[in-house]
Order: sequence, then structure tokens, then C-alpha cells
Amino acid sequence: MTAEPVIDTQHSPTASEVPAAPPTVRASLSPSRAADFKTCPLLYRFRSIDRLPERPTVEQVRGTLVHAVLERLFDLPAAARTPESAGDLVAPQWDRLVTEQPELATLFAEGDTAGVEGFLRSASALLEGYFTVEDPRRLEPAEREALISAVVDDELLIRGYLDRLDVAPDGALRVVDYKTGGAPREAFEARALFQLKFYALVLWRTRGVVPRVLRLLYLKDAEVCDYSPDADELLRFERTVVALWQAIEQATARQDFRPRPSRLCDWCSHQALCPSFGGTPPPFPVAGPADPLTDARSRPAAPGADE
Ligand code: SF4
Repeated sequence: MTAEPVIDTQHSPTASEVPAAPPTVRASLSPSRAADFKTCPLLYRFRSIDRLPERPTVEQVRGTLVHAVLERLFDLPAAARTPESAGDLVAPQWDRLVTEQPELATLFAEGDTAGVEGFLRSASALLEGYFTVEDPRRLEPAEREALISAVVDDELLIRGYLDRLDVAPDGALRVVDYKTGGAPREAFEARALFQLKFYALVLWRTRGVVPRVLRLLYLKDAEVCDYSPDADELLRFERTVVALWQAIEQATARQDFRPRPSRLCDWCSHQALCPSFGGTPPPFPVAGPADPLTDARSRPAAPGADE
């Protein structure tokens, strides 16, 4: 039997990216994993406890490629950030990704040049969508693909990679998330907003500033969705995150993660093991105590992979 090529869509932060956690910290959580539990506790278990591999979709890999191009685009001088420059970055960034993760090439049959070219063209089309909603020549992001973290409730480290953070001259913060997926956006908008609030909470707790705008940029639809949180809302959200963590702890102690079927099941890689689809989950893994800094529960999704 040939092993299925799989790609790790969770990103292991490098040692230099991992800040020293206060000694009170005993657990950690990323927005992607928290959103998994909120969406479906069994999906959380499959991804974070069983660590089952997932074969990424072409859409997820295209998302990773487009995020990489947009990240590099801001390395260029402002005047050079044109649609043509972005288009010129697509093939070199694809080559870089394939060099770093050779398994990506297995998305296409050997010699399927037309397939690869079509894929690269579809990434360029998403980038054209980007230029219809933003002019990167007028922007100077403060952070790109940055790992941010904060401790809440003394014990829980929360952290994740934000796509972009803009800081206005008056100090106002705008968190920007690029959405490249082709799935109906209503199916994922609540999840996307949950993740943006997660970043807003981290920024509020670490910088003392409530972000003025949380922005979702839908590249396929060339649409912008802005949301402005306030401190009361983030306080409530913080309680939600802590309660979510406590629910995860209880479910882990009881080894009880129930399926919660929804429209998102159509995008789940684990239907064959899900009781809602006639499957049986594997035996619950036996694990030692988790290290809060390397625990799978806190491993953020690679930029663009969580579409
Ligand atoms: S198929 Fe649906 S219910 Fe089952 S694990 Fe996946 S998301 Fe949950």
C-alpha cells in the first residue's frame, strides 16, 4: 500500500518565535484548534489528540501560495506593489513552497504541466481579486504572518499567526485576514470571525488597545467584511475561550468528544471515522502530560491553510 501524501497544515513555531511562558501557564490553545472544538468536538479530537493526517485540498494549498505571495509583495518598495509584480511572484513562491514541502508536488500527477499551470493561473486570479479591494502601494503593514500570544486566566496561553496587522498613525490597529477558499462563505464566516476575535483579544491583552477593525478580505469574491469589537465584547470573548478550554479539559479527562454534524462536514477529512457517517473513531490515544508550548492543541495553522 502506498502511503497517502499528507501535508502538515499546522505550523510548528520556531524556537525564536516561542516566547518564554510564565510559570503559571499549564495549557495553550490556538484559534484554529479552539474553532475546531467549537465547530465539532470530535473534529478537534481527530486533529489535536489523534493527530490524524489530512490530505490538503488544492484550495488549501492555493491559499498557502496566495498568502506567501501577499507576504512577499510587501517586501517590495511601495510603488512596485502592482498586480504585475504579484503575478511575477506566483511561480517563484510555488517553487519555494515545493522545495520546502516536496509533498505539495504530489497534488498533481507527474508531468501534469497543464494542471500546475492552471493551478498557478487560479492563484493569480485570486490575487487580481485582492487588487480590486486594496491598493498595497498605500499600505505599510506593521506585521505580516506574525505569531502573537497572550496569557489569559493566568493559566492559558493563547496564540496564533495573524496574516497582517496595520497600525494607523494614531495607533489604531487593524487586523487583516485573507480568505482564499472557494467554499460558500456563510459556512465559514462565523469561524473566521471567531479567529479574528481571538487575535483581537491577544492584541488587547498584550498592547492594551482594542483593535479598531477586524477585516476579512475575501479574494475570490473581491469583498471586504469589517467588524469593530469593543472591550466589553472582548471580555466576554475571553470568558468564552476559557470556558472552551475547560470544556476541552473535561472532554479529554472523560475521553468523550462527540460529533456535531453541520454543513462543515462536507469539508471534513474524517467522515470515514465519524459515527455520524457510520464510522468508528480509533481507540483514544494514551498520552503523557502536555507541554504547553509544543502541545498540538496550540499549534497554529500555517498561514492560509485554515481556509
Ligand atoms: S464529519 Fe462532521 S461530525 Fe464528523 S468529525 Fe467531521 S465535522 Fe465532526
